[in-house]
Amino acid sequence: MAKKNPTKAPAAGLKVDELMTGTTVFNIPFPQDLKTLKKMSPIVIKHPYSVEYVHSYGQDSPFFAGLSNRKLLGTKCGKCDYTYATPRLACAQCGRETDWVELPLVGRVHTFTTCYFGSEEFLKETPFHLVLVEFDGVDTLLLSRLIGPDGPEDIRIGMKVAAKFRRNSQLKPTDVYFVPA
Ligand SMILES: [Zn+2]
Repeated sequence: MAKKNPTKAPAAGLKVDELMTGTTVFNIPFPQDLKTLKKMSPIVIKHPYSVEYVHSYGQDSPFFAGLSNRKLLGTKCGKCDYTYATPRLACAQCGRETDWVELPLVGRVHTFTTCYFGSEEFLKETPFHLVLVEFDGVDTLLLSRLIGPDGPEDIRIGMKVAAKFRRNSQLKPTDVYFVPA
């Protein structure tokens, strides 16, 4: 079999269709002398990127089932009498399997931050407030959004906050958010 010439174009009829989407550029300057290519400036392109991502919540699934039923679920280790606001299926102290418990829907601001930049999903909502909420009888904190206060000057440590749920659950952690109580 004859050795294929790698610089030879494929025969007519074997062409793939031209793409008219994405980056289409014509007439990029190209030197006669290939040695000068090493001095070429890097090409930078803008390229939209999107994926469908199938993700299992696994053992955390009851937490999301709770959100869609307007319940905030944590877990509790019966042996250590330790309650996790962000559920853990195994106790961090003793490793024993924990049990699901309902958390109070009212808590206090433990600490907060106001975000002026965010990931793509939240960028259009900036600035927004993130809070770590503390609950009576619960040993860890819950990270969530605080809706309502205009600026950080309107938020106080220890401020009472109440959980609210999106009516149309997306089965995401953002299904729950907090407002001043
Ligand atoms: Zn334990």
